[in-house]
Amino acid sequence: MRLIGLTGGIGTGKTTVSNYLARTHNLPVWDADIYARRAVEPDSPVLDTLVDRYGSELLLPDGSLDRPALGNIIFHNLTERRWVEAQIHPFVRDRFRENCDALRKTPSPGEPTAVLAVPLLLEAEMTDLATEIWVVYCSPEQQKRRLIERHGSSLTSAQIQARIDSQMPLEEKCRRADVVLDNSSTLEVLYEQCDRAIG
Ligand code: ATP
Repeated sequence: MRLIGLTGGIGTGKTTVSNYLARTHNLPVWDADIYARRAVEPDSPVLDTLVDRYGSELLLPDGSLDRPALGNIIFHNLTERRWVEAQIHPFVRDRFRENCDALRKTPSPGEPTAVLAVPLLLEAEMTDLATEIWVVYCSPEQQKRRLIERHGSSLTSAQIQARIDSQMPLEEKCRRADVVLDNSSTLEVLYEQCDRAIG
């Protein structure tokens, strides 16, 4: 089985790559962010654990998670952030394992292949789930410019920089990659690199 762990920095083009791989190469994309959101849906054991620790102020009147409230708790407190992640990550891992089992059983003409889209693949030490690591890179200036274009109306330049700085440095991610996709140029150039890396 070929399991591509797709990661990169915030706003470097991970979604652009996963959409392309799904659209053009017909690959299933498993999205860690979706599973992480599912982990804290109302009545989930993970949400109960969070409420035990932080109180019912963490819930909206309809019983769902108040995400900004959780964000306020974990944004400035690394210990709490790690603790919350440690509650959510096992759920995400389980979903990936289930998907792998299903993929293994699905008849396929070539080697069964899937894309694991995991923004924090390296930070969360989930690399064991993938058989190869792809990192989407772009220059720091482009990264910031793209994020300003997208979030400029809701976040200040300093807040965007803080988000970039809170992640593992992109160069470090590239060092640990099997494949670096350089997204500093046009989409066409990016897609050519994807085609080559798929082989
Ligand atoms: P996030 O970490 O915020 O989820 P991401 O890594 O998934 O972001 P994308 O959403 O794929 O990144 O790309 C970020 C923004 O940059 C998007 O608006 C996208 O359309 C744009 N973008 C990506 N690649 C290019 C490119 N080669 N040329 C121009 N714009 C691009």
